[in-house]
Amino acid sequence: GQTIPVMVRVAPLRDGYVLILAENLSASRRLEQTRRDFTANVSHELKTPVGAIQLLSETIENNADDPEYVQQFARSLRKESKRLANLVSDIIDLSRLEVPDALHEPELVDVDELIQNVTEMQSVLAAEKQISLVASSKNTGAAVWGDADLLTTAVRNLVDNAIRYSESGGSVSMGVTVEDELVRIAVVDQGPGIPAAEQDRIFERFYRVDPGRSRATGGTGLGLSIVKHVAMDHGGTVSVWSSPGRGSTFTLVLPQARIEDDFDRMDEKED
Ligand code: ADP
Repeated sequence: GQTIPVMVRVAPLRDGYVLILAENLSASRRLEQTRRDFTANVSHELKTPVGAIQLLSETIENNADDPEYVQQFARSLRKESKRLANLVSDIIDLSRLEVPDALHEPELVDVDELIQNVTEMQSVLAAEKQISLVASSKNTGAAVWGDADLLTTAVRNLVDNAIRYSESGGSVSMGVTVEDELVRIAVVDQGPGIPAAEQDRIFERFYRVDPGRSRATGGTGLGLSIVKHVAMDHGGTVSVWSSPGRGSTFTLVLPQARIEDDFDRMDEKED
């Protein structure tokens, strides 16, 4: 068999009983290792755009009298700054998720409204790529308890990927269904798809199927790990169905807010 390192804590209880707590050390070591890897990856990922920004600004300074040069490097400078901004914003999202009581005061989130908001937020990017972005369902009555900002970020990340990885001229659609007390939010694209062997790994932090393509489109490698984290924090899941060459469908499944819960919570609020 396999030996598992444990840390044992003993706490005395009443009547001469003791409580023995055995903490699985291999699990906490793994967690620690994950944290260390993450910090190392973050440093590496941050250094790249920061270095590029420094270099590009020096180049612009040294070529100030050549407008064509300046324009060309200013464009690259803007791209690298955008990448840095995306990375910082994703890291902030992740650190918000690490706070255990980020969901301390859940609110009732109207999913139809959330989908409309995401459609509006992503419409500029979709238009730039001539992608038709459609929300196929309205008035589904879907509602979930949770953090509206985090849920919006999660759906937005899925739509952002769908647009970024699609060829221009394609289409991306979002659908919502409520069944068996579950809300399903599906984001469907006709992009390149994801090979079966990679489908689990893409939810890991900084994992990319094609790092070059991800970076070229302003990707940080963190988007899907944020979606997964948000899903889990809301008692839900995220999964992917994909067929290379035919596209991908990402589905976020969340518990539908029940009417009884609504009343209970409203009562609490009034007290
Ligand atoms: P990134 O910032 O690189 O897009 P994500 O965590 O959002 O990071 O996604 C991880 C990887 O999963 C991407 O690099 C890409 O290879 C793959 N991926 C995600 N969404 C899609 C999609 N809709 N179509 C094809 N590949 C995708």
